[in-house]
Amino acid sequence: MTDDLRQRIAESVGSAKAADIVMTIVQPELIRLRKDMQLWCDAAASAEKLRQHQAADADRYEQQLRHERDEAVNALDRVRSLHQHNEDAGYCDLCSKHGDITWPCATIAALDRAKEV
Ligand SMILES: [Zn+2]
Repeated sequence: MTDDLRQRIAESVGSAKAADIVMTIVQPELIRLRKDMQLWCDAAASAEKLRQHQAADADRYEQQLRHERDEAVNALDRVRSLHQHNEDAGYCDLCSKHGDITWPCATIAALDRAKEV
């Protein structure tokens, strides 16, 4: 790369000696720029690794939240199945042993309020 650059400079200015002088100035700058480029490449690779790690964390957290949501929905379904509306008598079969608690019972009323929020 630098030999090719030196050759192009020599051809451009028409002097190998002038190209050598220019290269003493350009060479350290090329080295510095290559080091800077490597630092930026390393930083980009680190950022990508961090992005992938956080994406994996986000996926695991989403799966956990979906699982917890499903468990909560299933728990609500189980509670609702315990508190059945006796259509003929107009009360909750579980809560009202003698028909003294009308439909909806406090449990179902609380669940219905939660659905409205
Ligand atoms: Zn009930």
